Amino acid sequence: MSSSPRRYHITTFGCQMNKADSERMAGILENMGFQFSEDPNQADLILYNTCSIRDNAEHKVYSYLGRQAKRKLQQPNLTLIVAGCVAQQEGEALLRRVPELDMVMGPQHANRLEDLLEQVFAGNQVVATEAVHIMEDITKPRRESQVTAWVNVIYGCNERCTYCIVPSVRGIEQSRTPEAIRAEMEELGRQGYKEVTLLGQNIDAYGRDLPGTTPEGRNLHTLTDLLYFVHDVPGIERIRFATSHPRYFTERLIRACQELPKVCEHFHIPFQSGDNDVLKAMARGYTQEKYRRIIDMIRHYMPDASISADAIVGFPGETEEQFENTLKLLEEISFDMLNTAAYSPRPGTPAAVWENQLSEEVKSDRLQRLNHLVSIKAAERSQRYLGRIEEVLVEEQNAKDPTQVMGRTRGNRLTFFTGDINQLKGQLVQVKITESRAFSLSGEAISVPQPALV
Ligand code: SF4
Repeated sequence: MSSSPRRYHITTFGCQMNKADSERMAGILENMGFQFSEDPNQADLILYNTCSIRDNAEHKVYSYLGRQAKRKLQQPNLTLIVAGCVAQQEGEALLRRVPELDMVMGPQHANRLEDLLEQVFAGNQVVATEAVHIMEDITKPRRESQVTAWVNVIYGCNERCTYCIVPSVRGIEQSRTPEAIRAEMEELGRQGYKEVTLLGQNIDAYGRDLPGTTPEGRNLHTLTDLLYFVHDVPGIERIRFATSHPRYFTERLIRACQELPKVCEHFHIPFQSGDNDVLKAMARGYTQEKYRRIIDMIRHYMPDASISADAIVGFPGETEEQFENTLKLLEEISFDMLNTAAYSPRPGTPAAVWENQLSEEVKSDRLQRLNHLVSIKAAERSQRYLGRIEEVLVEEQNAKDPTQVMGRTRGNRLTFFTGDINQLKGQLVQVKITESRAFSLSGEAISVPQPALV
């Protein structure tokens, strides 16, 4: 490696797990002396952290990569890396398709970036996609926000949802120890972070691979136990977690959320379909009745909690009637937010080769109808905030109006109000809500807090 500082650029596609991995890898690169470059064309090392859930993300990677591969002809010491799920899935095939690539690395290898890069700088083309035991993270991620941070608690997934590529690209479940998670949160608290989101593909599986049981035979390490264990970390004012799985969601967890003041009143629990036969074909392991019982239980303990979810329309074989069951579930539960997607077959997943695929027209028609109802329901849910005083954690300036700042309520609603970002960043501000829209709120600060320390 040359002694003058080299610059890196990371482009991230896909989910929060990928974003958290990118921050970690950026931290490793900065530790190695690399400097961040906003412009990929000025960078000496480019890393694409890819996602294979959506088709368009995959296509984008190939087009970005094509451009940079051309640049490499003029600049042979440009280092090109593809990481993430596409890398894991395609492996060596990617090197054959884009021979200019220096490295293809699966998501389990993110923490090994420095070792792998040393092999690259020694002149090797590296493929790192084998299943590994994930090394405990000792690096300091370069985090995008100075206020909120993601903390991985479990990697991988042992489920086998028939549409999902995650288990084959991210491997089996591997939980971090509660001590390691707490230590990372303590460090974040010292650095001035106020909010932490604990992350896992199926966070309710947390701890089941860790040893130890209680005298009653219950697993000693569950997400609920983890919340109690990390709850008093100094400086961290809010704790969130995602993504929940209806199959493993427990009443004990809801009671913990109700009891622990730092845990925000927001649950993200994907239901995917409102029809039992579709859920069975997806191998989700629950029925829509069970899902409704979970929501009822949440609303029993925490009536005001906000609830968001993910849903897929146009799964192979989904009939109009089955799709309407999804609309019905949305209508009856009234979600604060619903992430929707039209089913798209992912190579290597069981459902991708089924013959009963639906046409693009049917899928996009159903997606539009679902999205229409999502906005109506979200707008209705937003209205309950009108006139209320909500605690908002200020994250950024409003990009569209510099006289305003933006942050989130505990229920995760994006909220805007007039204020100076230099004074308010990282502050918890009481805001009176004066305007509600489907997915955001506006209001007025009712008290001006002390200057932020971040
Ligand atoms: S729970 Fe299902 S959808 Fe979620 S990551 Fe695991 S296999 Fe994929």
